[in-house]
Amino acid sequence: METQDYLALEDRYAAHNYAPLDVILHRAEGVYVYDIQGKRYLDCLAAYSAVNQGHQHPRILQALREQAGTLALTSRAFRNDRFGPFCKKLSELLGYAKVLMMNTGAEAVETAIKAARKWGYEIKGIPEDQALILVFEGNFHGRTTTIVGFSTDEDARRGFGPFTPGFPVLPYGSLAEVEAFFEKNGPRVAAVLIEPIQGEAGVILPPKDFLPGLRRLCDQHQALLICDEIQSGLGRAGELLAHRAFGIRADAVTIGKALSGGLYPVSAFLADQEIMQVFTPGTHGSTYGGNPLACAVAEAALDVLVDEDLCARSKTLGAHFHQGLLAQGSPKVKEVRGMGLWIGLQLSEDAGPARPYCEALRERGILAKDTHGHTIRFAPPLVITKEQIDQALVQIGEVLT
Ligand SMILES: *Cc1c(COP(=O)(O)O)cnc(C)c1O
Repeated sequence: METQDYLALEDRYAAHNYAPLDVILHRAEGVYVYDIQGKRYLDCLAAYSAVNQGHQHPRILQALREQAGTLALTSRAFRNDRFGPFCKKLSELLGYAKVLMMNTGAEAVETAIKAARKWGYEIKGIPEDQALILVFEGNFHGRTTTIVGFSTDEDARRGFGPFTPGFPVLPYGSLAEVEAFFEKNGPRVAAVLIEPIQGEAGVILPPKDFLPGLRRLCDQHQALLICDEIQSGLGRAGELLAHRAFGIRADAVTIGKALSGGLYPVSAFLADQEIMQVFTPGTHGSTYGGNPLACAVAEAALDVLVDEDLCARSKTLGAHFHQGLLAQGSPKVKEVRGMGLWIGLQLSEDAGPARPYCEALRERGILAKDTHGHTIRFAPPLVITKEQIDQALVQIGEVLT
């Protein structure tokens, strides 16, 4: 079968809920993916940062293979010998006392929402069904009906209502508006839910004082600060948890994506005991959440992050990539944003939409994703080398001129 045949099959039999680039990938290794003709591409999306450790990382693959041949799923009705040790490792690595494992990112966010609300009622004393969770314009937290209900992306919302109430949306970066909201509604606010850096919105960094300001307001008004680190965390922004770069500690975090290095869907909600205690037997769960295969894969994925020092790599190589893009001085570039190996290149108005540039990059063996019309994002696996970045910079420079 040729590329056109695969496109025709997808067109005919698959839901059209994505508009992918027309490349049919067949295999991958490290920073490279290969299409059905054997053409090699540098992966500059890394599956939205799920593949921070690189494709088919041998250590993670080995863990997957071994555990798949031993014990894969018990459900949480019974215990398994991978779950406890993994929760300990994750808890100690990220510095939160308790772990609740789920599968997809959206489920971890749903877990965070449930935890925040129940904490609001049981600990803070918010009157029944009055809890509010503050969220921000441009947010992306997943695709469940509750979550898309507070999205500000019309495509994500339209036609899916009625939506879950209780999620006031405020401008990302405006501390004054958050403060005013708290002044009026503080007793009802259970939590603030935020991406420390907005990924899907186009790698948007908050003003420096925003997260510290939110921390202060949450403390003043006894509300939880919950950071969605599903894309920003685990090395992508150069830190295990991106929000720490702003000098604060969130009360709880969600992680996913790179938690498994791309080999299995694994997500988690982490918090200290004061929050996690709201979950008692029967109040929340997931058939696959915390299964032994997930634990084995995630344990190896975390080991790789630590042993290969991927946070530090992300920081240094990210700065190199960033500088390289700026140094090209292309008039087509309006702005280069980012932290670590997570870069949003915003095109100037007269450069036109980003998609054709991504298609031109694909022709030159680089896979990158446009987002929000005029931004190209570069987020390669963190195992990328300086030389590979330099090669990519040459191609990007040519596409931009
Ligand atoms: C990808 C993402 C999610 C959703 O994860 P899924 O695994 O696709 O459900 C949630 N929050 C953020 C910040 C993300 O980037």
